[in-house]
Amino acid sequence: MLAHTLTINAPSPEVKLNWPVAERYKTELWVKRDDLLHPIISGNKWRKLKYALLDAQQRKVKHIISFGGGYSNHLHALGYCCHQLDIKFTALVRGNYTCNPTPMLRDLSSWQVDIQYLSKVEFKQRTQPEFIQQLQQRYSNALIIPEGGTQQQALQGVGEIVSELHQTYDYIVAPVASGGTLAGLIASTPNTSQVLGVAVLKGEGYLEGLVQNLLPKPYKNWHIEHTWHGGGYAKTPSALTQFCRQFSAETAISVEPVYSGKLFYALAHLLQQGFFATGSKILALHTGGLQGSRTQQACE
Ligand SMILES: *Cc1c(COP(=O)(O)O)cnc(C)c1O
Repeated sequence: MLAHTLTINAPSPEVKLNWPVAERYKTELWVKRDDLLHPIISGNKWRKLKYALLDAQQRKVKHIISFGGGYSNHLHALGYCCHQLDIKFTALVRGNYTCNPTPMLRDLSSWQVDIQYLSKVEFKQRTQPEFIQQLQQRYSNALIIPEGGTQQQALQGVGEIVSELHQTYDYIVAPVASGGTLAGLIASTPNTSQVLGVAVLKGEGYLEGLVQNLLPKPYKNWHIEHTWHGGGYAKTPSALTQFCRQFSAETAISVEPVYSGKLFYALAHLLQQGFFATGSKILALHTGGLQGSRTQQACE
C-alpha cells in the first residue's frame, strides 16, 4: 500500500555484472540494483524506512523528525516520502547552510521540509537519551527517527533484499556507515553465505559494535573490511574518483564515491588479492545514493 503510493519498483533487478575485473579473477559478480528502486528515494534508505513509515501511517503520525548532514541521503529520502505522504517533516541538519544550501537541502525546501540547523556540538548529542527526551517533550506528537534511519525496525525492510534474491551467493557485500544495512543483511542471510561489509569511514571496532548492537543475536558469518574508506567519510582521493569514472564506463552502472564507489573499489582490490576463491558467486548491493554527489553551488 505504502510502496504503491510511493511507486517503489521492488523487487529491484538482480543482474550479472559484465566487468572485466570479475571475469579476470574467475568469479561471478552480481549486483542487486537497489539504486533503481525509485528515482528519488535512495535504495537502502527506503529499505530502512519502510516499516517505520508504515507504522507511522497506521498510527496516523502527523510529524516526523530526523537528523543528518547537508548531503544526507536519509534526510533526502525521508523528506520526499513525508512530502508524498502528507506528513510534516523536520530535518535537524549538522552545520549551518543558510547562505549556501546544498542541492539536497534545496530539494528539502521544495518539499516544504522544516529545516533547522544545529551546531556541530548540538548535533553530537543526537543519540543521547536526554537530548531525545527534550526533543520529544517539545514535539510531543512527533515520531523521532534516528540518523540514517538506522534502528531495530530497519532490519525487517533490509531483510526483504535477501528474500527477493533468485539464487544463493557465497558472499553478499555492502557498504557500511551506520551499520543498519549490514545488520539487516546479516540477520536475514542463510549462514552458508558470508556477509561482507566495506567500511566507508574510519571506524574499526566502532562499526562492528554498531552492527552487533542492532542484531537480535550473535552471528558468525560476517565481517567488515576497513582498508578502503579512502581516508574517512566522504573523503574522495583521486584514485577513487578515477576508479568510479572507469567503473561507470565499463559497466554502464553509475556509482558515487561516498558509498557505492568505495564498495566496488574494495571489490576490485579484494578480487586482485585473491580474496574470493575461484568460482565464487558474489552479490554486491548497490545502495543508490547518487543524489549525494551533486555539487554545491557557490554562496549567493
Ligand atoms: C546511508 C547509505 C549507506 C550506508 O548504510 P548504513 O545502513 O548507514 O550502513 C550506504 N549507501 C548509501 C547510498 C547510503 O545512502
